[in-house]
Amino acid sequence: MIPSDCRIQSTKKDALYPRYDAIVIGAGIAGLVCGAFLARCGKKVLIIEQHSIPGGYCTSFKRKGFHFDAAVHHIGGCGKWGIVGRCLKTLGIELDFYPLDPMDHLIFPNFTIEIPADLDQYVLRLQDRYPSEKDGIRHFFQEFIKLYRATFNNEKSPVIDKYKNRTYSEMLDAFIKNDELKMVLSGQWGYIGLPPTQASAIGMCQMMINYLKDGAFFPAGGSQGFANAFFKKFIDFGGHSMLSSTAEKILSNGKAAIGVKLQDGKEIHSKLVVSNIDARKTFCELWEGNRDTAFVQRIKEMRESCSFFLLYLGVSEGADLTKLHRGFYHTATDASRVNDGWMYVSVPTKICSSLAPQNKQIISVVVYLEKGKYKDIADWKSFKESMIVSTINRLHEYVPDLEKYIEVKDAATPKTLERYTLNTHGAAYGWEVSVDQIGDNRLPHETPTENLYLAGHWTRPGPGICAVVSSGWGVANLIMEKENWR
Ligand SMILES: Cc1cc2nc3c(=O)[nH]c(=O)nc-3n(C[C@H](O)[C@H](O)[C@H](O)COP(=O)(O)OP(=O)(O)OC[C@H]3O[C@@H](n4cnc5c(N)ncnc54)[C@H](O)[C@@H]3O)c2cc1C
Repeated sequence: MIPSDCRIQSTKKDALYPRYDAIVIGAGIAGLVCGAFLARCGKKVLIIEQHSIPGGYCTSFKRKGFHFDAAVHHIGGCGKWGIVGRCLKTLGIELDFYPLDPMDHLIFPNFTIEIPADLDQYVLRLQDRYPSEKDGIRHFFQEFIKLYRATFNNEKSPVIDKYKNRTYSEMLDAFIKNDELKMVLSGQWGYIGLPPTQASAIGMCQMMINYLKDGAFFPAGGSQGFANAFFKKFIDFGGHSMLSSTAEKILSNGKAAIGVKLQDGKEIHSKLVVSNIDARKTFCELWEGNRDTAFVQRIKEMRESCSFFLLYLGVSEGADLTKLHRGFYHTATDASRVNDGWMYVSVPTKICSSLAPQNKQIISVVVYLEKGKYKDIADWKSFKESMIVSTINRLHEYVPDLEKYIEVKDAATPKTLERYTLNTHGAAYGWEVSVDQIGDNRLPHETPTENLYLAGHWTRPGPGICAVVSSGWGVANLIMEKENWR
């Protein structure tokens, strides 16, 4: 269950060191992973987090006995051989997961596709439904797996060269002719927040193959249980934390990072700083020293990802949610419309009933918001109210009498997401996952500023929990190598 845990707290003020080996700004999953690895090798590490709990987007909250996950619905690669699984094992963290099978559903107005957890089965299912595309489907997934392996092994490879400048639609067009099948194979674009005509083929590949090959999992204890497990391990390794503390500036000696200044004016010095927060804020607001003009200009020109509206419902006993399948609900009837809006619905109590009081259930909905359409909203309260009404109306199609069972109703807008994580405009995935912002085009872990590193979804390899675990781990390895801390 979601722990109200006495170990999830700040280090006592009188126990803090005057100087650290490393300060990590942000207790998102990448910050926690990076901090845990650095603390494991005996270094003095401090994590500074503005929220009162660790996890960033991977947190949970409680209302009237219902435990809602704030944003994250499931995590890829938690099995023995997946990136998250290997990271947990290396750190000595034991955590239970529920593997999701089926992995997902794609609900279109006229038909539904169930995506099995096993990729080979999915391929067979698609080949059954679209027999004239049998070879195209096989070749498409073979190429996708090759590309996935090359990106995660960070290889220089012809397959990366081939796709690094291609959108997902362009890649699909090379293998698939059938319009409906293209729509189906694009149905999960919401997981990277950019429609297939703009999304990078590499970005879609990292996300889709991660889920389809390495599995999708729901952590026992929900998102907060996942984040807390890393936080506790970090503390066990001797790490220090300051929760409810905002980093206002990154201290500099002109060219190198030398510590952090908090909003209350306190200065804490360190050998190096890892930023797990919004990269533009890191360089344009927090960094005080000399600037690499070209690097900062590039960051100013980069585009952040979309954000979402989220609806959290706690429903009483008796509600019939059998027609609410976990997955994407699209309005599109052909591939050219797959860019249209979607909502993602899950009922996490079907996986883990203890998230709600006995016999009660949770419905969680994410609604895609097109970026240009919410940046100028002035009246967020009215926007939120109208989104609550329209989203519940959409759910009525599947649960006609839903209204009478709703016990708890809460919602979040991009403004809410920004308030809790300080990601600009509530960007769900850091930078947009477009061709010019993924792979080598995403910001590197090592920055032009000496002793200042980036970890998380604003840097490589990209968004999603599995990717940011890899990012936090990668940055820790890079630092340990450079500083000879092993
Ligand atoms: C609605 C939604 C649903 C999602 N669903 C999934 C999903 O199902 N599966 C999945 O894998 N991914 C999902 N994602 C994406 C995933 O959650 C993110 O890519 C990932 O959590 C980002 O982790 P991070 O470590 O980069 O940092 P973040 O989670 O962004 O955390 C950054 C942390 O830094 C802190 N911080 C910021 N500024 C400061 C400061 N100045 N001082 C101190 N602290 C600061 C913040 O409070 C925050 O805790 C979802 C995202 C959203 C928004």
